[in-house]
Amino acid sequence: MATPGRLAPGIENPVDLLIIGAGPAGLTAAQYGGRANLNVLVLEQLAPGGQALLIDVLENYPGNVGINGGQPKSGYEFAEDLRKQAEDFGAKFLSGSVLSIHKEENIFRAALKDGKNITALAVIIATGAQHRKLDIPGEEEFSGRGVSYCATCDGPFFKNKKIFVVGGGDAACDEAQYLSRLSSKVVLIHRRDKFRAQKALAERVMKNPHIEVRFNTRPLEINGEQKVTSIMLENTVTKEQYTDDADAVFIFAGTVPQTFAITAAGNSCVKTDENGYIITDQNMETSMPGLFAAGDVRATPFRQVVVAAGEGAVAAHCAAAYIDSIKGN
Ligand SMILES: Cc1cc2nc3c(=O)[nH]c(=O)nc-3n(C[C@H](O)[C@H](O)[C@H](O)COP(=O)(O)OP(=O)(O)OC[C@H]3O[C@@H](n4cnc5c(N)ncnc54)[C@H](O)[C@@H]3O)c2cc1C
Repeated sequence: MATPGRLAPGIENPVDLLIIGAGPAGLTAAQYGGRANLNVLVLEQLAPGGQALLIDVLENYPGNVGINGGQPKSGYEFAEDLRKQAEDFGAKFLSGSVLSIHKEENIFRAALKDGKNITALAVIIATGAQHRKLDIPGEEEFSGRGVSYCATCDGPFFKNKKIFVVGGGDAACDEAQYLSRLSSKVVLIHRRDKFRAQKALAERVMKNPHIEVRFNTRPLEINGEQKVTSIMLENTVTKEQYTDDADAVFIFAGTVPQTFAITAAGNSCVKTDENGYIITDQNMETSMPGLFAAGDVRATPFRQVVVAAGEGAVAAHCAAAYIDSIKGN
């Protein structure tokens, strides 16, 4: 990644806008920040693209339909275009993992793992979320080959196949409903004896003839060769263990927001919901003025590329207005 050019960031020389995380939210924010003529620096700990790099075919992003009958762009190609677009508008990128963010008067200071400090007038947190893993044998091995964490993304690959869904909350019930429109052989397993999901949703699942619900059941192992072929289960009450045929296992054991950078600094005034997601107003501004959040890390009902990109655009637009106000423009 290029080092920052227009203005070397440092303690005495703050950038206008610091964006932490180069997933779809951060990359879109970088483009909009650049277009607003801000001095933008994006910090990314891995590679630009975030979770989008894992998307085989990004077929649900509006307009990404492929040219002349070709297939829509992959998540990797899409993210690469987002990055180039942001760079074309002047955003700079730097490799680095942010450990903490502090605000002193009107200046934010981000401390990086390698000991560097970057200062900025405004910050957008676009650090995303990670799916909670079950940590059972076969989960990692068959990820992308039958094991999935996103029904809207991967469900269409398993039309009329035998699909297991793991979980008992809103996401598991919602996604089981979605999958039941693609296959009449959906088995929803939950380790407890009732769902945690909202009542109306849980009732819809219980009445759905395409979903078989198995309570008091947990997965022990996912098996297969090239792809998933079976799942080993345990009845949590009787302790009986058995194996069932399976073509896919969709896991919805919750997600974990990547908020380490803000919680590490003891920024207790940054409000989060009960699951740790950052709460913002409609401008994507957190409870700390000048600190914005966008994408999967934000408390939002739907986590998708299109949502992350939209929120990134709003965050950058509103951050530009905030920066103007503190510069007295
Ligand atoms: C397997 C899979 C398939 C999916 N398929 C689809 C699909 O088909 N369609 C769809 O719309 N959505 C899909 N999604 C969801 C979509 O990818 C996410 O909603 C989207 O990527 C969220 O974007 P984001 O920018 O908010 O966060 P992320 O994409 O999570 O990006 C966050 C970035 O921040 C970086 N970061 C985190 N912490 C730090 C730190 N402290 N310092 C520096 N950098 C940091 C991370 O390395 C990461 O690159 C899928 C997700 C997965 C996992």
